[in-house]
Amino acid sequence: MELKEKLGLLNEKSSVAEIQEYIKDMKKARKFDGVTIEREMMLFVEEIGELAKAIRKSTKGCLDISKEYDTSVEEELADCFIYLLNIANMNNVDIFKAFKEKEKKNCDRVWK
Ligand SMILES: [Mg+2]
Repeated sequence: MELKEKLGLLNEKSSVAEIQEYIKDMKKARKFDGVTIEREMMLFVEEIGELAKAIRKSTKGCLDISKEYDTSVEEELADCFIYLLNIANMNNVDIFKAFKEKEKKNCDRVWK
C-alpha cells in the first residue's frame, strides 16, 4: 500500500499507536530510517525553534519585517508531533502508554 493511501486511512478516531505506525512507514518510504537518533533529536529541536518563531509571529513578536516568514503555528506543531512520534519509535516507546504512566505520576504530585 502506498504511503498516501495509508495516510488516507487515518482519521480523527485513529489512535496514537496507529499514527506512530504510520510514522514508521513514512520514515521507511522516504528512506529516513537510517537517520541516527542524535540527528533526529537535532531536527526535532530545529522544529521546536520554528514553532517558537511561528508563535512569535502570531503574537506580533519583534521580527525582521523585510523577511518573509511562511510558517504557521499549526504546521510547526505538526512537524514537532511527527518528530516526537518518530523519536518515540526510535526508542521503542509506546507514546500513549508513556503519556498515561507519566500523567498518572503527575496526578499524584502536589501542585502549589
Ligand atoms: Mg517546520
